[in-house]
Amino acid sequence: MKLYNSLSRKIEEFNPVNPSNVTMYTCGPTVYDFQHIGNLRTATLMDLLNRVLKANKYNVKSVMNITDVEDKIEKRAAELGVTVDEITSKYEKIYMEQLAMLNISADLYPHATEHIAEQIALILELEKKGYTYKTDYGIYFDTSKDSDYGKLGNTFNSDKGQSRIELTEGKRQVEDFALWKFVQSGETRQKTWDSPWGVGFPGWHIECSAMSMKSLTNAFAKPTSTFGVDVGLTATDFTTIDIHIGGDDLKEIHHENELAQTESITGKTFINYWVHGAMLNVDETKMSKSLGNFITMQTVLDKGFEPMALRYFYYSAHYRSELKFSWEGLKAATVALQNLSTILTTPGVVETTPGVVWEKYQQMFLEKLNDDLNVPQALAVLFNMIKDENIKIDEKKKIVAFAFNILGLSPINNDVKLEDLPEKVAELIQKREALRKSKDFLEADKIRDTIKDIGYEILDGEELKVRKV
Ligand code: AMP
Ligand code: ZN
Repeated sequence: MKLYNSLSRKIEEFNPVNPSNVTMYTCGPTVYDFQHIGNLRTATLMDLLNRVLKANKYNVKSVMNITDVEDKIEKRAAELGVTVDEITSKYEKIYMEQLAMLNISADLYPHATEHIAEQIALILELEKKGYTYKTDYGIYFDTSKDSDYGKLGNTFNSDKGQSRIELTEGKRQVEDFALWKFVQSGETRQKTWDSPWGVGFPGWHIECSAMSMKSLTNAFAKPTSTFGVDVGLTATDFTTIDIHIGGDDLKEIHHENELAQTESITGKTFINYWVHGAMLNVDETKMSKSLGNFITMQTVLDKGFEPMALRYFYYSAHYRSELKFSWEGLKAATVALQNLSTILTTPGVVETTPGVVWEKYQQMFLEKLNDDLNVPQALAVLFNMIKDENIKIDEKKKIVAFAFNILGLSPINNDVKLEDLPEKVAELIQKREALRKSKDFLEADKIRDTIKDIGYEILDGEELKVRKV
């Protein structure tokens, strides 16, 4: 199996540290609002990679964190006059429901606020090793002490990187970042914690080092006490994590900083394979909360689309290519997924003994996915197989079922009962039937197009069927 590694900037053969326990960490959502369908593209990448690894017979532990401490959460809670916990639990619940609708799952979802002691322990360790300094605003990581800082994100050769860096007085280098922040006078915050440096809250990046080390390695396994809390940090027990996933937008700052902190503490490679998913765009711009150009899953559902159509839509581009969102694209994804689903529901028995055709296509399909998760090419293999008239329906069904399983798809059925059709569509169908009887196929086709524009597709067969598109 091959994966593109953002650190080496090359496609590499995947060799896990321990094949019976592949470790994978994904930067999850900040739960202060609805997630948009861009965020869900990255979550789908996590789930796809998990499934492909499993298809290659690896055991996988997949961890996705929940960021439940952040300025945006505090701000939202203050605006609405509610507690931070009300905000975070509400949006986390909605996010989990959306993951379930998209067949996405991880093995563990750790919360940043449940790992404060671990974060403090890591900062103390950095302090002990001379990587930190203090300003009026907090404890900072001194990037000049880390000789290979910048190796992942190539941060400072890019305007994008520069613009996202926190500009705070007292920093020694512009790229230095907060590990622990002090509550400023006049600032009211709901969530603060005591620490060896005073009351405050953690900087964003340290939470991912703490949660990945804790959930995927033995770094926190031994009972030792830090700041009165038994978190058991033994940096030497850290073992390199296989895979780290996130959107491209996190590579330059967040992941660079996670890497710098963790490697400075452990002296070992943090992550072997950095996997970054490209952005979901609106027009030519990244879909994002701050730009206000985002679409949520709820809007997709409200417009009558199936969650599975969204998952299938993500598959219309390779994960390292940007993908432009459009409602037409989602419609096309619905139709393609319906066509595949129809094969699964066609009567016929699924073969129990694997035939030669099955072996061949299963292998071809997996080969494409093993080539840096090339889903568009894997789907091309599937569609060529379906077109092949020499392949029996029961074999087709078996291959499509296998593909659905690895891609995390479930069949959809948008057939509409004739009695449930809007009156106008029903009338047009009757008119078209009459035209077909009188062999005026040209006019009949025109009506078929009009019906399609309204949102329904007619499937002529022994029995008339109509589906929503
Ligand atoms: P956030 O809640 O902004 O921290 O984002 C959660 C995850 O979604 C991160 O892995 C981001 O990299 C990813 N993400 C944010 N915006 C997009 C987008 N437009 N397309 C794909 N992934 C995104
Ligand atoms: Zn992270």
